[in-house]
Order: sequence, then structure tokens, then C-alpha cells
Amino acid sequence: SAVEAGLYTASDQIVQLTPGNVESVLLNSTAATVVEFYASWCGHCIAFSPVYKSLARDLKEWKPAVDLAAVDCAAEENRKVCISYSIRGYPTLKFFHAYSKAGSAGKPFRDFPRDVRGLRHKIIDQLETHSEPWPPACPPLEPTSEAELDSFFETNNVQHLALIFEEAQSYVGRELTLDLLQFENIAVRRVLNTEEGLVTKLGVTEFPSCYLYYPGGNFTRLKVKVEARTFYSYALQRLRGVVRSGKPPPVTTDGLTNSTEDPWRPFNRSRVYMADLESTLHYSLRMEVAAHTVIKGEALIALKKYIAVLAEYFPGRPVVMNLLKSVNSWLQNQIGGEISYDAFKEILDNSAQSPDTALPEGVRWVGCQGSQPHFRRYPCGVWTLFHVLTVQATNAEESDPQEVLYAMRKYVHSFFGCRLCAEHFENMARESMMDVDTLSSAVFWLWSSHNRVNNRLAGALSEDPNFPKIQWPSPEMCPACHMVKANGDHQWNKDQALSFLLSYFSSSSILKDYLE
Ligand code: FAD
Repeated sequence: SAVEAGLYTASDQIVQLTPGNVESVLLNSTAATVVEFYASWCGHCIAFSPVYKSLARDLKEWKPAVDLAAVDCAAEENRKVCISYSIRGYPTLKFFHAYSKAGSAGKPFRDFPRDVRGLRHKIIDQLETHSEPWPPACPPLEPTSEAELDSFFETNNVQHLALIFEEAQSYVGRELTLDLLQFENIAVRRVLNTEEGLVTKLGVTEFPSCYLYYPGGNFTRLKVKVEARTFYSYALQRLRGVVRSGKPPPVTTDGLTNSTEDPWRPFNRSRVYMADLESTLHYSLRMEVAAHTVIKGEALIALKKYIAVLAEYFPGRPVVMNLLKSVNSWLQNQIGGEISYDAFKEILDNSAQSPDTALPEGVRWVGCQGSQPHFRRYPCGVWTLFHVLTVQATNAEESDPQEVLYAMRKYVHSFFGCRLCAEHFENMARESMMDVDTLSSAVFWLWSSHNRVNNRLAGALSEDPNFPKIQWPSPEMCPACHMVKANGDHQWNKDQALSFLLSYFSSSSILKDYLE
């Protein structure tokens, strides 16, 4: 279809306009909308598309106030839409105010910057020109004053007020106001360095800096590693009482059960557990693969690759490794075009009955427990398993850098029960997996792809309120992984992140608690 031929997919968090939805998206919407009019054949559009995708991830939390859309003007069916907006050149960006009326042409961004930061600032400028009606989800963006603060808690029912002290030309305060838009019990306002009363009262000397301000005039400075948007955002989202709108507050794990009879297993949130990995193997091989009574074609190739990678790199207990190796040698010897699941299962359950060869039955989730039985568990185990495998593979001397990722891609494609997940994962793989050319870039690819998924799923129904989706690892877990560019924008320190991943998922860090 045209949507697939275009430059964006459903995984990009960019609304794809079609003649069928253009009116409902652009007219009378409660959010302002930025639209990219592009032609899929145009080189500048192709070059711009990764920037627009990153912008969509960067502004993800702003969606209720300002959303991103795109339309492929090269697709025949969209021709009329593009003509009606008088589009002659590509790419063209236009800003549509909230509650735009029919006939509204949108405001073009002339000579727009081709970087995320520049575009983000332009969007804030546009939002601020917004006359009435202001997008209802968008908090005030103008600087606050001492007088306004006096009555703030009378009119706003929030626990925390974060004040960003900054210079007039800084965008940090407005960015954070929008970043925290979808969180309850917190409001963010900017205060200019020229607001002498407040600056003196709080003793502010650094711009930007962030203070938490409480009723009665109490305040404390927010401690962060770097005074920058992303560090503030991580810290503010984690304040006591701050929850994503529409999510119940996190529950304490005392008294939680992880299924009807299982008691909650206390665990260390910053460690990997072998019990999760074995549970994942059990679920994958005895439940998910079992859905195919006959395994052939692509699925058979996928299963062979998956088992081969497990036999090679799974850092399991000797009994489990013996089993994986025997399943592997059996499977690689199946030269016909298909196998039955029953035959596979017989080997898996070790019908030969050697006492030192077994994959334990059943699941015992530990680090992958969720606060409700429908949260986390198996998909958490799948991610964890493949992170561990990519890290294990870095110890191999001469191996194909894409081997583990390829096994994951094929497994997910043929067997992973969440079909939409599989589609999204395939989109990411198709986009960039071919760039993986070393074993460490494979570790990296999976980490950054997982973070993309986390970005997309933050706030989704599948998010466990006790385990919010974050760009992982947080600055608390790995301070050295995070840094900022000279302009204050966040940047991962890739060397540090790599050594963090190598140690976090290494076989020697895996905890053996709760194994049978
Ligand atoms: P998970 O995201 O499962 O992560 C497990 C653990 O890994 C975390 O607790 C953390 O310790 C660690 N971790 C987190 N981020 C990273 C990272 N970047 N690098 C390394 N380790 C990290 N769900 C959907 O609703 N829609 C989808 O499209 C979708 N696609 C998926 C695609 C794949 C291939 C997989 C395996 C899962 C997908 N899921 C999808 C499920 C979703 O990603 C989560 O697995 C699920 O919601 C459980 O979340 P969780 O809190 O346990 O954390």
C-alpha cells in the first residue's frame, strides 16, 4: 500500500495522513499539529526522514498538545490532499493550530532547521503564537512571577511545582513543561533570571537550575548530574507521587502475588536473574513454538537458528546446556523440509531420560514479575534473553556480528505471539540492522532498538505502573552513560553505555536465586 511505500511506518509515532483521515486529524483537533508534506522519491525528504522520526521520539510526551503528521504527496491517492494545501515543493512543514477550521492552510515553516533541536524550538515558538483557543492540554508556557506563585497552590491541585530558572532565550523550562504534560501531581513553570524577587528569595545563582517549590514557600534544589532538560526530566518523573495520567499509582510489593498461588519474589531491580531466562526458554519452546504443530519453511529455519544460538551462547547451568546441545544436534540433523512439534517436544523433554539433561518445566518470574499478572513476564524475558545472548557473543572470537540479532529477528517474525510487536520489530530491523558490523554494535543495536520500543510504549496500556518505561539505563543506574552536548541536548556516552551493558548482562552477573 501507499503507506508502506512512504518514508514512515506505524512504528514511527507519526500520524500518516490519507484522504480518509486528513480532516479528522487537522480540523478542530484539540492538539496543534505539524505536518510534513513530502514525496517519497525526493532525496531531501529521504535525508530529512530520520530527523523527523527522531523529532517524533523527542516530542513524544508533548502529543496531547502538539502532534506530528506526514503525508506522501507522491502517492496518487494523496494528490488532492496535497493540492488543497497548495504544496509545490518537498519537504514542506506546516503548523496547524489547535481547533483549525476547514480551509485553514496551516502556517509554513520557512527555511526550517534540519535538526531535532532547531525544530523543537521552532515548534515552541509556534505554540506560543497560538491565539485562543489554546490547546487545552498545553500548560502555560510563559514565565511565572512571584505574585502568581503566591496563589499557585490555591488554583492548582499538584504536589510538586518545579521551577526552572533560566535566561530568556533558553527553551529548557518550556520543554520540561511539555515533557511533564502527561504526568500528574507535578507542574513545571519557567522563571526568568530577571525575576529578582524569586531569584533572591531562593538564592539562585545558576541558570538553568531547577527548584521544587512547596506551599508555604518551602523549596529545595533538584539535584542532577547536569543542569539540562533530560536530567531534569528523569528526576521529575520519579518524584514521589508523580504518576503518568490515567495510571494508578505504583503499589507496594508487600502482599502482591504474581499469579493466583505464587508469592511475590523479592528481587534486585538492577540485576538479571537466571530464573527469568529459564522461564523464557520454557515458555518459548513449550508454549510459543508449540502453536505450530508442523514447523517448516521460514519457521523451521528460524527455529534452527534460534536453537543454534542458544546452544552456543546461552550462559546456562550445565543441565540446561546439555539439553540445548542435544536439541540442537537433533534439529540440525533434520534434513527434511519439515518437522512435527511433537517430535521436537520429545527431544526437548529428554525422552532419553539422562538425569543431567533438562530444561525445567514451568515459569518462575523474578526480575520480570509484574504488579499484575498481565504485566511484564514473558516479553520482559525475551528482551533480557537476547540482551544476554548479544553480550555473550562478544566473547566469541570469529563469529558473524549479526548472528544473534538474526536469530532474534527470525524467531520474533515466525513465533513471537504478539504479532504487532513482531511487525514493529521487523520495521526496526529492516531500517537499520544491516548497519551492524561488529559484535559490540550488535549489543548496541539491541539496546537502542529496545529504547525506541520503550519510548513508543511509555504510557501505553501494557506499561506496568511499578516499572515505567524509561530510556534505559537511568542516570541513577549509570551516571557515566549520560552526558550533554555543548548545546545542552542529551547524548549517550556510547563507550560508557557499552561497558555498562557488557557488565550488566554478563554471565558472571546473573543471579541464580529462586532456581529449583
Ligand atoms: P521490558 O521492556 O520488557 O524490559 C525488560 C527489562 O530489560 C527492563 O526491566 C530493564 O531491566 C531492561 N531494559 C529496559 N530497556 C532496556 C534497553 N534499552 N536495553 C537493555 N535493557 C533494557 N509491547 C507492545 O505493547 N507493543 C509492541 O509493539 C511491542 N513490541 C515488542 C517487541 C519485542 C521484540 C519484544 C520482545 C517485546 C515487545 N513488546 C511490545 C513488549 C514490551 O516491549 C515489554 O517487553 C513489555 O511491556 C514488558 O515490559 P517491562 O516493563 O517488563 O520491560
